[in-house]
Amino acid sequence: MINSSLKQIAAALAAKKISSVELTQGFLDRINRLNPEINAFVTTDAGRSLAQAANADALIARGEVGPLTGIPVAQKDIFCARGWRTTCGSKMLANFTAPYDAHIISQFDAAGAVNLGKTNMDEFAMGSSNETSYFGPVQNPWDRSRVPGGSSGGSAAALAARLAPAATGTDTGGSIRQPASLCGLSGLKPTYGVCSRYGMIAFASSLDQAGPMAKSAEDLALLLNVMAGFDARDSTSLQREKEDYSRRLNQPLTGLRIGLPQEYFAAGLDAGVAEVVMEAINQYRKLGAEIVDISLPNTRLSIPVYYVLAPAEASSNLSRYDGVRYGHRAADYTDLSEMYCKTRAEGFGAEVKRRILVGTYVLSAGYYDAYYLKAQQLRRLIAQDFKQAFSQCDVIMGPAAPGTAFKTGEKTDDPVAMYLEDIYTIAVNLAGLPGMSLPAGFSNGLPVGLQIIGNYFDEARMLNIGHAYQQVTDWHTRMPEGL
Ligand code: GLN
Repeated sequence: MINSSLKQIAAALAAKKISSVELTQGFLDRINRLNPEINAFVTTDAGRSLAQAANADALIARGEVGPLTGIPVAQKDIFCARGWRTTCGSKMLANFTAPYDAHIISQFDAAGAVNLGKTNMDEFAMGSSNETSYFGPVQNPWDRSRVPGGSSGGSAAALAARLAPAATGTDTGGSIRQPASLCGLSGLKPTYGVCSRYGMIAFASSLDQAGPMAKSAEDLALLLNVMAGFDARDSTSLQREKEDYSRRLNQPLTGLRIGLPQEYFAAGLDAGVAEVVMEAINQYRKLGAEIVDISLPNTRLSIPVYYVLAPAEASSNLSRYDGVRYGHRAADYTDLSEMYCKTRAEGFGAEVKRRILVGTYVLSAGYYDAYYLKAQQLRRLIAQDFKQAFSQCDVIMGPAAPGTAFKTGEKTDDPVAMYLEDIYTIAVNLAGLPGMSLPAGFSNGLPVGLQIIGNYFDEARMLNIGHAYQQVTDWHTRMPEGL
């Protein structure tokens, strides 16, 4: 079952060809065998997972089945799950057991899915390679000397190594799409506000969004059906009618207008990646789509704008880790202020500290107007670029990342090179739009992702566009050899 679609797994469970306990045990066995090296999971709890699987089997026996009943899902360790250690990739939370469930976790529980374990990630979701994790780097299953991308690198590696049939991620500037691209997976960041952020540890609240990661667009739709929906506990959760994200999967693409932004194919894009992406776009032409040249003129501003706004929000969000109520606390201190300082100096890694420093600086009284306010104004211009583009096309396509998976350690000493990994994804978060990455082929044996950016709330249409492509290509079924 390791390479099966969620539909196929659900059918096997319904037909009692396999039980959820057997299925879950099978994935746990793979995790036990492969995870010591790949390091995709930071926490597993076989007892808890198998108990959930047994419950699912009881539901199946009673015929109370939904599309995800009994299916194991790997959860990014940014989601609080009651009774589970929830670390966010940080020493600060290395011993934190969540006392409550994130909305996303309770949605999966209610759907009868099994929590298979918590996946590794960059510390507080800050990174593009999973190398900032307190729990060590994650291997890319396609080439173990390379990174899986980040920050949802553990979820991506778990899926690519077929340690899990489905996973969750979060995307603040590209953390679902970039690792999906580097690991040959499908991943979707929904429109901001579609998935509740309740219980999802905050990085940059105006940008953070949860989303599904899986092998195919069809699987993403099933997962998004469970994840999306209004939740009064998140003030930015959108009150919209519940929709079935699978409903349009099989529509023809005739007449679809695909915009190609000239800025996404300019200098900085790896030639091998460009070739694969253009080939995918050709495939869409054959499926009846029409190609339109467009421009997103403010693309080059997206990284600087993000690296003012995201650290500003992070510096505020991370002020709660002070050693008082929960999380790490320094062992020796003489007064309260020393306790704060030592706790934070010990608990946070270098990248997180860099962001807190930058964020505090850009919000300081003397620099607020010059940096934070300016960045907010530019954010609006970036969003307007997309508005203008969507008057000429239905979706936008381009690469998800500028290159393929890079070597572990290759970019760790150069934060700016690391930040540029998200050059094609970050603007989408700044605008609050939905974005998706699909496996589109290989360059030098490494996976390449095609990015599809949709207009607000166009997820069902995007999944249709992804599914149509996956009906005529088989990139999404490829898996690394020898695992
Ligand atoms: N790589 C970006 C960062 O480091 C985005 C991370 C994310 O989307 N969580 O901030």
